[in-house]
Amino acid sequence: MGVRRPFVAGNWKMNPDYAGAKALTEALGPALAPYLGSVDVGACPTHLHMPSCGPDLRKAGLLVGAQDAYPGTTGAFTGEVSVAMVKECGASFVLTGHSERRHVLMETDALVREKTHAALDAGLGCVLCIGEKIEQREAGKTDEVNRHQLESALAGLDEAVAKERLTVAYEPVWAIGTGKVASPQDAQDAHQKIRAVLAGLFSQETADSIRIQYGGSMKPENAAELLAQPDIDGGLIGGAALKADAFASIVEAAAGVVSP
Ligand code: PEP
Repeated sequence: MGVRRPFVAGNWKMNPDYAGAKALTEALGPALAPYLGSVDVGACPTHLHMPSCGPDLRKAGLLVGAQDAYPGTTGAFTGEVSVAMVKECGASFVLTGHSERRHVLMETDALVREKTHAALDAGLGCVLCIGEKIEQREAGKTDEVNRHQLESALAGLDEAVAKERLTVAYEPVWAIGTGKVASPQDAQDAHQKIRAVLAGLFSQETADSIRIQYGGSMKPENAAELLAQPDIDGGLIGGAALKADAFASIVEAAAGVVSP
């Protein structure tokens, strides 16, 4: 894992209802407590549940993330929630570029760039998600897609800001929510190339300090092997983040703590 402190974040998506989100929040505190000294752990409830769950998540030592945020503070954008609003609700980071937003909600590269910059400019952390679709992988275009998505979203970003607040999540689209997972070696190869792109955009020193999470069906059974790769610095977790014990096992793997 090198010098980078691992960062594991749970993306709850449009999942638990109010009671379920409260119950998950309550369960996460004790389950994660043993590992928070060595791992940064985040949880991303829906915007609606940020005010009800956020204070308890923070009290338990977790970072609260927003699953999305619209650039700006206020304005005529029906249905949207601004970067300023999620910050006001206690978010310390925002997910941008998630494949469900790119490919289901049809967000363009330009909007991903705007959101990424807006979150970072507001002083928030940003987990920028990138990754290839299955047909792009089969056409040998994984690295090209990752490079394009990085260069597009990060164009013009100040190096000091990237160093301080940017995380990248490599999430092969075919592995998200499917139970299929990239092999540790394939994931490591992709992460290494992503870091090389970051070095080109910023500097080697900054690239070496930016955490690159793996996302896509990471589970207790496969987490340790993935997280042992030198350029995999944590995980962005969907399905397995909805059960406190499964999520805690992944965090435990990130901490390198051996179960008693
Ligand atoms: C995700 O949504 O970012 C994700 C990785 O989901 P899952 O873990 O369910 O594949």
